[in-house]
Amino acid sequence: MALPRLRNLSRRATVLVTLLGATALAGTVAVMTSDTLDFVIGGALIDLGYRFQDPIHPHGHRSPSAVWAEVLSHNALAARVRDLFPRSTHHPLVALVVCMDARIDTNELVGDTRRYYYVLRLAGSVMSEREEEMLELAVDNGVEVVVLTTHSECAAERVARDPALRVRYPHLAAGVDERDARSAEFRARPNIAARLHDGTLRIEQVHIDTHSGRLVPRPTPAQAGR
Ligand SMILES: [Zn+2]
Repeated sequence: MALPRLRNLSRRATVLVTLLGATALAGTVAVMTSDTLDFVIGGALIDLGYRFQDPIHPHGHRSPSAVWAEVLSHNALAARVRDLFPRSTHHPLVALVVCMDARIDTNELVGDTRRYYYVLRLAGSVMSEREEEMLELAVDNGVEVVVLTTHSECAAERVARDPALRVRYPHLAAGVDERDARSAEFRARPNIAARLHDGTLRIEQVHIDTHSGRLVPRPTPAQAGR
């Protein structure tokens, strides 16, 4: 007698948990604005696309000419699709300064494909005067948040740490050495300093986990001094 009663209870508990789960899901969907829902569904579909393409690996060695031909063929296909589904333009509010490491995908990093971000891909995330000026131009054109990033397993940082590699790649190593000084130089530019002071601009520093893409905040010099 005890066993059927137990089964009954277990069945009821399962139904109850399912109902609670469905109610919670319905509640979550109900409180989501349509924009949020579109954003989440779009992100999920993009993730699905990544899952489809990720396991495709070319077989054997291919010549540079063959690789280039493939780039052109993929581009032609992508451009045809884009012709069919043109996109609206959004003025970026955020600028990301990111190392050129191929494992970091900035769209995936922020779950966003709307060109909502200026992206500067630089070796070791090191800015030169040119990038500082370009970034300031972006700020003048409406950017309100600048995100300076570093990332785990950075090849440029490895070069800077290794005496033999420093000899082989002296400019890259010197660039990594001066990265923080370049960031400070950018903050000190009169226009940038004024915007930071009146609160119309934020500069954030984050460290990217290269494998998960998770952003870990690093205090900026100004925040660390508080
Ligand atoms: Zn790197």
